[in-house]
Amino acid sequence: MTEDKKSLLQEYKLEPDNELRFEVEAKAEKVYLTLKNGLAEIFGTEIVKGKTYEFTAGAKVAVYTWQGCTIEVKGKTDVIYTAKETPMVLYSNCHAALEIMRSESEKENKRGPITMIMGPTDVGKSTLCKILLNYAIRMGRRPIYVDIDVGQSTISIPGTLGALVVERPSSIDEGFSQEAPLVFNFGHKSPEHNSKLYKMIIDQLAVIVKERLEVNKKTRHSGVIINTCGWVKGEGYKQLLHTGKSFEVDVILVLDQERLYNELVRDMPNYVKIVFLQKSGGVVERSQHARSEIRDQRIREYFYGTTKKQLYPHSFDVKWSEIKLFKIGAPPLPDSCLPHGMKPEDHLTKLVALTPNPGILHHILAVSFAEKEDDNVILSHVAGFVCVSSIDTERQTLTLLSPQPKPLPNNILVLSEIQFMDSH
Ligand code: ADP
Repeated sequence: MTEDKKSLLQEYKLEPDNELRFEVEAKAEKVYLTLKNGLAEIFGTEIVKGKTYEFTAGAKVAVYTWQGCTIEVKGKTDVIYTAKETPMVLYSNCHAALEIMRSESEKENKRGPITMIMGPTDVGKSTLCKILLNYAIRMGRRPIYVDIDVGQSTISIPGTLGALVVERPSSIDEGFSQEAPLVFNFGHKSPEHNSKLYKMIIDQLAVIVKERLEVNKKTRHSGVIINTCGWVKGEGYKQLLHTGKSFEVDVILVLDQERLYNELVRDMPNYVKIVFLQKSGGVVERSQHARSEIRDQRIREYFYGTTKKQLYPHSFDVKWSEIKLFKIGAPPLPDSCLPHGMKPEDHLTKLVALTPNPGILHHILAVSFAEKEDDNVILSHVAGFVCVSSIDTERQTLTLLSPQPKPLPNNILVLSEIQFMDSH
């Protein structure tokens, strides 16, 4: 098919259990999709018949139908094809098994299943989370979504871990509604950069999530779905075991990697159900460059919103004296200089006061909820993020890009390694 023809209106008739997959070119115009007949869903969210959905550059989409349907696609797609082989029946069986556990938990007034999705990068972990959450919502559940994938965070900006009570199916173009997410700043794009801190935040997140399960009956029975990082070897694997233990998981779904599955069967307690699942042939692999672009886009959207829902961030100056800036992790001390009782890795979770300096230009700063500048800052969740857009060492001021106007909700700020070049 020629490029021109591809940009025309096309109609696709899908048989039951088929999936139409397409990608929108990185620099392309928009692609529009309308369901003409039948029933279809995108990653577990039902498509409304007759409504036109818009997809922007870089979107990677699969329209799946259980019953068969007709879809109209308008605009230039990078690739577009119908797949007859999909793992959707397997994924739906997992959902059905979780539903049985949820119903049992209702009868026994216990907590519902805590499920962790694992696998290497680009196997469709986030997508499977989305599908399972959407199916749960469609059954009237109200699960908690936890995302600990700091590289490709889906709840807040990169470098964070978060949790969200999901009350509505994810919107096809906007994702899950972001009302009052609980967000922790880790400050790096891979857990490798500070394993100790990562573990501490996981433990804190697990405590808070379990508390939330206690206070809301519906959520308690619905359970939790946890999305994880693709770092599954060595220390990364140990981190996964630690997370499983900390959250007291009941179910682990392993995508694509049999080795990981076998290791988990060997290392997890017997009562944890571990299921191996095929990845979908539709999952698109992303290069390092693509990953870093997605990270930038997430931050851009945090400040400026999307084309559909634009946001207008504020830019203002703050005096250095008005803020208290910290970073987490001091340079390591040689063993011989360690104060009594201090372990060599303790420096990794030390709160260090920082004087603003040109090195923090373009860095993200987390606005902490902590009331005092003590060790609690490390484990406090955050009110939001600002970005340092310029620094004046003479006047001793910082210019911040912020979603909210001045004043900042708190003057305790924590430096993140994540940077954002504001091109607006
Ligand atoms: P992971 O979380 O394992 O890194 P993702 O779930 O983020 O993987 O999937 C990678 C990309 O593949 C995403 O852009 C997603 O939209 C896309 N994708 C997932 N499943 C499909 C599918 N069945 N067809 C087309 N694209 C898909």
